[in-house]
Amino acid sequence: MRQNKYFWGEMHTFDDSYFMKRALQEAQTAFAKNEVPIGAVIVMKQQIIARAHNLTETLNDVTAHAEMQAFTAAADFLGGKYLQDCTLYVTLEPCQMCAGASYWTQIGRIVYGASEAKRGFKVLKTTLHPRTEVVGGVLEKECGAILQRFFVEKRNLN
Ligand SMILES: [Zn+2]
Repeated sequence: MRQNKYFWGEMHTFDDSYFMKRALQEAQTAFAKNEVPIGAVIVMKQQIIARAHNLTETLNDVTAHAEMQAFTAAADFLGGKYLQDCTLYVTLEPCQMCAGASYWTQIGRIVYGASEAKRGFKVLKTTLHPRTEVVGGVLEKECGAILQRFFVEKRNLN
């Protein structure tokens, strides 16, 4: 009998929202560091092989988006630069830079939470790799709420 890969014990279902919750935990870590709370994980065969969050303030580097950190960590873990068998889960729709980087990784799938109406790759029509499948809006509310909370708190500090 084939094992059902989507169940781990009886408690967890390995679906898109399960992994998006892990990405949200990364966003929370970013929040605690006073970074814009965006988190990402990369999953291969139901296993998280990389987790990352936005580090643009900490590293003083505008390219230190969660996705960029995650691509590097995943390639390092796999010992190869291509991520064809992987899925990127990210709490916010990737920007042009990250979508562009995803092209070079040939990543199999991108799942994002909240949409980014101004700088998202969709509105800017950034080309993804032809084999990259995209799913948006997974835990959209939660992913958007943490960002809103961050900017409200920031504003109150000023
Ligand atoms: Zn980005």
